[in-house]
Amino acid sequence: MKPAQPVLEIIGIEKHFGNQHVLKNCSLNVAEGETVVLIGPSGSGKSTLLRCVNLLEPIEGGAIFFRNQDITHQSIEPHKLRQDIGMVFQNFELFSHLTAAENIMLAPMTVLGVSRQDAEALALALLGKVRIPDKADAFPDELSGGQQQRVAIARALAMKPRLMLFDEPTSALDPEMIREVLDVMADLSAEGMTSIVVTHEMGFARRAANHIVFMENGEIIEHASGEHFFNGDVSERAQRFLDQIL
Ligand code: ADP
Ligand code: MG
Repeated sequence: MKPAQPVLEIIGIEKHFGNQHVLKNCSLNVAEGETVVLIGPSGSGKSTLLRCVNLLEPIEGGAIFFRNQDITHQSIEPHKLRQDIGMVFQNFELFSHLTAAENIMLAPMTVLGVSRQDAEALALALLGKVRIPDKADAFPDELSGGQQQRVAIARALAMKPRLMLFDEPTSALDPEMIREVLDVMADLSAEGMTSIVVTHEMGFARRAANHIVFMENGEIIEHASGEHFFNGDVSERAQRFLDQIL
């Protein structure tokens, strides 16, 4: 078997906010088809790391390669890059005046020039994939939080991204809705969607993660295969963190 190509290579990146050093020489590779779960205390730099990958934050040192291209090069247009990198946030951020289907259809139609008919067919297929096939005409405020988050995932998938970034996608949800969102994400991982998932849902990590990365104070302290990690082969610092969240 051919070794999987790296989709993403983060090499020694640096980031400050004011005089706070929030990313310290952070490196991370994600191979095609892999799911990496990123864990760590609040304020450790997880969101900032994801935002740098999506060019929502500039880096000050190091490099980021996405599909062998240096994305911090000045020739890279952020909005083009974001067509290939889907991002899902804690708070869904759906357009409230559009239905579920319209939220999904918007970018394919306006950015890719897909016809309304094709965009609608795509939206219906994606709503099926995220297991809410009957919600096409519902507005966000008519949907539960778990359903809204699944629409947000479908909206990101509509651009056929090569990498998905999830930033605590279930942390704003009531407990009974967490599972339905994690199930959809686990389906995507099983189908080979390359993903980085910031989450403290260790059940999901056990099910879906090829690698677990632990961050603390802006540093990647630990990078383990799921197998090693869940066999208890973790550093004392990571274990202390796990003891707090579990
Ligand atoms: P995490 O997602 O792990 O909780 P963040 O990446 O959000 O951590 O934040 C890392 C650190 O950077 C925190 O101390 C946070 O307060 C700070 N920070 C994040 N974004 C900004 C910003 N836009 N301006 C100033 N400080 C920020
Ligand atoms: Mg965060």
